[in-house]
Amino acid sequence: MSSHRTTTAANTADIQATDASHHMHPFTNTGALNRKGARVIERAEGVYLWDSEGNKIIDGMAGLWCVNMGYGRKELVEAAHQQMQTLPYYNTFFQTTHTPAAELAKEIASVTPGDLNHIFFANSGSEAVDTVIRLVRQYWNIKGKPYKNILIGRENAYHGSTIGGTSLGGMSGMHKQGGPLVPNIERIRQPYWYGEAGDMSEEEFGLACAQALEEKILAVGPDNVAAFVGEPIQGAGGVIVPPANYWQEIKRICDKYDVLIAADEVICGFGRTGNWFGCQSFDFQPDLMSMAKGLSSGYLPIAAVAVGDRIANAFIEHDEDFNHGFTYSGHPVAAAVAIENIRLMKEENIVDYVANDIGPYFQTKLREMLSEHPLVGHIEGMGLVAGIALVKDKATKTLFPDDLDIGLICRDHCFENGLIMRAVGSRMVLSPPLVISHAEVDEVLEKARHCFDLTLASVDKG
Ligand SMILES: *Cc1c(COP(=O)(O)O)cnc(C)c1O
Repeated sequence: MSSHRTTTAANTADIQATDASHHMHPFTNTGALNRKGARVIERAEGVYLWDSEGNKIIDGMAGLWCVNMGYGRKELVEAAHQQMQTLPYYNTFFQTTHTPAAELAKEIASVTPGDLNHIFFANSGSEAVDTVIRLVRQYWNIKGKPYKNILIGRENAYHGSTIGGTSLGGMSGMHKQGGPLVPNIERIRQPYWYGEAGDMSEEEFGLACAQALEEKILAVGPDNVAAFVGEPIQGAGGVIVPPANYWQEIKRICDKYDVLIAADEVICGFGRTGNWFGCQSFDFQPDLMSMAKGLSSGYLPIAAVAVGDRIANAFIEHDEDFNHGFTYSGHPVAAAVAIENIRLMKEENIVDYVANDIGPYFQTKLREMLSEHPLVGHIEGMGLVAGIALVKDKATKTLFPDDLDIGLICRDHCFENGLIMRAVGSRMVLSPPLVISHAEVDEVLEKARHCFDLTLASVDKG
């Protein structure tokens, strides 16, 4: 075993104090956190985390949906170590390249569907999404249609927190802050069947949600719409799985009006849904797609946009610089880790494991163990991602009042009981590492059920 520093209770308090004095946390009420003290995570192995007080926690979220191949993978550490010694950094801007960037582009192209053969590198999902925005607008510009620059996203979508990602996303809490947003972005309703369909069947609702895209395209004028952007399954919005016919209809409408489709595969990509990419699970071919998280299993920050031949060739034939990129686009160390990560995924047949073994096991067992629970209104998911709607009344789908914050109560019980499960409003979400075993799935679900019982007891007490 490798040695590691062990934090004592006394220096847990020190770290918390230092953190409170100087660290502003993302998506956090920093004042409230400072009063309470952040939990200090110290080390990790497989699907487990240990905090500074020695608690062992099973990670039902793979970090933030990213540590797909699990913690403690020596192969990834070694790939970074080797590359750091050979070439720790060089840029790819001015007519230069290096082996890791070139090789990773080839590796990504080997797993993307269809003609998504051209790779633009970034460092985060947000940067990849911003790259999509600029790429599709510039594509239509090259094509002599600079007015075709409106992007259409969806309510409750998450595309990152740069100004571009925030604008394209549909998170009202984010739109309220740090605006004004980027212009020429429109949004349509989300395909959230359980929450928003009323009496419609899944099929009727899938069609209706897709037709909202056609209505929006006609309202703003087809000649003005550059692209539709969507997550195959909405992740941070609470794991919303669209009806099976939804993406087919979206694709038909986009083709009809010559609107590009960008799949935001930052969560769905790299095996999460039981295919390499989420678009394959819904059987549609995007014109381009953004990816990040699982690309390196989160070991180093790296992201990419895979671009189809139609768009890439337009840029290549246009014979002009594309004035976009990042100092660390294709960073050699991050790229070396991503290459090794993809190699490991192939060697261990992890996508097949999710599709045919652990994914079906997880989805079946999840329903067996939780669908009868009094708090559970509905369970949806695919592969190794799932969302669970918590309700006050199952029959009427009545939610708990907002000020009760049922999701946070449940999340806190999970935290106290050695399980990381995330709350999105009143929905609980799971997205464990893809390498999770059957016994570890059982542990996640047994803990989850126990914590749902504790949550129910807390609200009954009032
Ligand atoms: C996480 C996420 C992003 C943003 O990625 P960052 O690396 O946090 O910038 C974008 N799109 C989707 C679908 C995501 O889940």
